[in-house]
Amino acid sequence: MPEVVFPKMRLKDTNQGMCDLENGKEFRMYVCGITPYDSTHLGHAATYLAFDLINRYQRLSNLKVSFVENITDVDDPLLERANRDNQDWSVLANSQIELFQSDMAALRILPPEQFIKVTDSMQLIESFIDRLDENGFLYKVDSDLYFSAEKFLEDLPFSVDDSIKIFSERGGDPTRVGKKHPLDPLVWSANVAGEPGWDSKYGYGRPGWHIECTAIACEYLDNEKSDPIIDLQGGGSDLIFPHHFMSSQIVKAALGRDFATHYVHAAMIGFGGEKMSKSKGNLVFVSTLIKDGVDPMVIRWGLLSGHFQVDREWNVDLLKTAQSEVALVRSSLSRSDVSPSDLLIKDLVNAVADNLDTPFALKRLVEWAQDSHVNPSVNESGLVSRAIDSLLGLAL
Ligand code: ZN
Repeated sequence: MPEVVFPKMRLKDTNQGMCDLENGKEFRMYVCGITPYDSTHLGHAATYLAFDLINRYQRLSNLKVSFVENITDVDDPLLERANRDNQDWSVLANSQIELFQSDMAALRILPPEQFIKVTDSMQLIESFIDRLDENGFLYKVDSDLYFSAEKFLEDLPFSVDDSIKIFSERGGDPTRVGKKHPLDPLVWSANVAGEPGWDSKYGYGRPGWHIECTAIACEYLDNEKSDPIIDLQGGGSDLIFPHHFMSSQIVKAALGRDFATHYVHAAMIGFGGEKMSKSKGNLVFVSTLIKDGVDPMVIRWGLLSGHFQVDREWNVDLLKTAQSEVALVRSSLSRSDVSPSDLLIKDLVNAVADNLDTPFALKRLVEWAQDSHVNPSVNESGLVSRAIDSLLGLAL
């Protein structure tokens, strides 16, 4: 890329509003990964695309980026799907992980340095549960273990009643008899016959959802000095509560430090007027689009044409617009002489730095491509190709 100043990245933090990211030497990011049973629909793709742009930008700004993502490869929905299809759960998980990784590669979403499976992390999750136990925040209901969250509920993002309702909709069990507080999350679940389990000092079973992410993130990203431990925790907006809230409280209880400086969430993608979800049956899969002949760069462009923090629709018109805009920009980039690139590249950098304003970045790129057809004056198409490749991940 030509001499460009990379301003500090500004992102809209879910708890704090618009924030400038600090320019330390290192940027530590943890993004919650998939549960591998329905990958990769466009909602997943939009989320990982947003954090890919952050990863790319921070690297271009000369920061060392440490980026970890988990895979929740043992979880209720995965086991239910495997049961329904009469398939071994681990075979299903591995095939979906492979599909996810090939979809990510097709969309040019850079992989994290560490891609950690929960099933490979049982030891470190057990050690993390030990810390909760040592600090007195662990208790048993029958043979299951819970995190006692009551001391950590001051910053609940919703009223207690609303929180309980959402907790229940997203895998929690607020009404279980014997719990100290309805919002206490499960951290270790005793084995249910026929389900996978692992030996631990807490019995034969498997971990709860929130503690998996905290244990993995702290294992791979904690330098044991910093507080908060990581710079950014990311994921889809459906993870704000309870997942990210509980993860941060579990870290406070276990380690006495804050988990993340920033929490950033990507909005949901809808199709046919509703949020894309397995329960609505309206998932659009990346692999299906690619099989149907859609260029992955067109998918990428289509997802970038809306702002990552605005819930938005995927539809045929959006796809057609993305196809024609990609074709226009490609035709300009295929010529040697184009419009000057200086101002364009500055605008693209500033747009990405400004809370990933990709709609503006793509609009500028289209304007530049149109102008390049009318007024080709300099031999700079290679500069633009390289800039949009490294900054936006668009190989056109
Ligand atoms: Zn997570």
